[in-house]
Amino acid sequence: MRKRIISLLIAACMVLTMVPVTASAQEGTESIVIGQSAGTPEKEELPVGASAPLECVCDTRCTEGAINSQCPVCSAEGVVLEEVCLGEPAPSTRWTYDPQAHTLTSDDHITLYNVTDDGSGNLTINGNREISLSTLDLTGGISDREGNRYVLTAIGYRAFQSSKLTSVVFPDTLTNIGGEAFQSSSLNSVNFPKSLRAIEMNAFGSCGLLTSVTIPSGVSLDSYIFTFCRNLSTVTVEEGVTSIPDGMFSNCGALKPSTGRKTIPSPKSEREPLREPL
Ligand SMILES: [Zn+2]
Ligand SMILES: [Zn+2]
Repeated sequence: MRKRIISLLIAACMVLTMVPVTASAQEGTESIVIGQSAGTPEKEELPVGASAPLECVCDTRCTEGAINSQCPVCSAEGVVLEEVCLGEPAPSTRWTYDPQAHTLTSDDHITLYNVTDDGSGNLTINGNREISLSTLDLTGGISDREGNRYVLTAIGYRAFQSSKLTSVVFPDTLTNIGGEAFQSSSLNSVNFPKSLRAIEMNAFGSCGLLTSVTIPSGVSLDSYIFTFCRNLSTVTVEEGVTSIPDGMFSNCGALKPSTGRKTIPSPKSEREPLREPL
């Protein structure tokens, strides 16, 4: 936060100093002096941000709360860490899978129940309706106590139905989101990974807090996926999506007909699904 304020101040200084400089060009030599003196403090800070000869030496991606003081680039004042830091993003929570208990437990003691594997290291999270978490990041690595690796490939039928989850981060191994998986949950937003291949019926139905979604291409879409999402007002469709299944957006009152027509491409064979938002 302090860094933000500092960079705002720098930005403000730059704007302020630029004004006299521009004016000076028209008025003559006198005001050029003003521009230069005002510009001096700015010049002291700029090379740091510009970092011409300096190189980032970070292994781990810096964040506002954890800045690598050894790095001349990232430890400089006023830099935008996401832009300058070359470190890898910090590993997210790691998960331990228990094949006997069918649980998935994170380093920070979140436990998901009814998790099953297919014998080839692919996991499915099944019903967790009692979950009280509001956010869930499923991107961390998964292994069991013997060190065998697993990946999460599916969210099963009703896995998080009626949960208090407001956000969930899917790993880029996820291929399937089961029927009613997040129905009537508190999700505010949802981002689908590139790996996703199928979303089943009513997976996000009645998510009253969902306001915008992007329909990914290359995904098999079932019917009524977003039905009764009453506050859904923005639907973006990725290039390559050729049809919107029946009722996918039925009873989504906030979806204006014009918006719907503009963002949803003409379907090829479906019978007038574009009328659904109406
Ligand atoms: Zn760095
Ligand atoms: Zn860094």
